[in-house]
Amino acid sequence: MARVVFVPWRRGRRLLAAVVVITAVLLAWSYYRGLQEEETVRALSWAVANQVVVVDPGHGGIDSGATGPGGTAEDRVNLAISQHLAEFFNQGGAHVFLTRQDENVQEGESGDDLVERVRLAQRVGADLFISIHCNAFDSREKGAQLFYDPKSPEGKKLAEAIQTEISRRLANTDRVPLSIDAFVLRTQQIPAVIVEVGFISNPREEKLLADPGYQRQMAFAIYAGIVNYLAGKGGAPAETGPPKSNTY
Ligand SMILES: [Zn+2]
Repeated sequence: MARVVFVPWRRGRRLLAAVVVITAVLLAWSYYRGLQEEETVRALSWAVANQVVVVDPGHGGIDSGATGPGGTAEDRVNLAISQHLAEFFNQGGAHVFLTRQDENVQEGESGDDLVERVRLAQRVGADLFISIHCNAFDSREKGAQLFYDPKSPEGKKLAEAIQTEISRRLANTDRVPLSIDAFVLRTQQIPAVIVEVGFISNPREEKLLADPGYQRQMAFAIYAGIVNYLAGKGGAPAETGPPKSNTY
């Protein structure tokens, strides 16, 4: 009787072992693929060397931006992703400037932090301006989306390249870049984009956006898109039109 009892248990154990081994192999493979992809991007990093890039973590100071249902503040997510992005640019040999280093904003002579953000880009002779924000609408909307100025063909190309990499790497959106009239885009001659990294108003996405690992992944996807843009690879076609939902 004992053998009858033990045989299914052994079979179960073998099955469990097989599942564990297969899972481990799949995890190792996806990790290896991830490393390979990071290597490929790093191999193209010559394209960012000596570029002057302004990374703009949206909001800060008395304006914390949107707040998620779980209490996550947009300005903090924007800063964390921006700091990762700045680190990748540093590693690639770019000259990178953040419009704010911490929770404080620079209001300078103008008394208007948006004006100062654009002025910083002019003062340092920036080649690119990348503004990081979180979107907010209702609890169902999700996914990252790029915005560019309607009069900037290069801004559009840059937006497409970043959107392509976010969509491919994070697989959380089928959104396409949109043109929009926004101060930090309209006032610049250089390619400038707003990256809405996701909807902080969506409980699931809010959790992701608050997660340090996801923040780094998001920053790397943005970096990969910029590397591709600078290396002349471009991205997928974009549609134009008014954004369905946005808060800045
Ligand atoms: Zn915002």
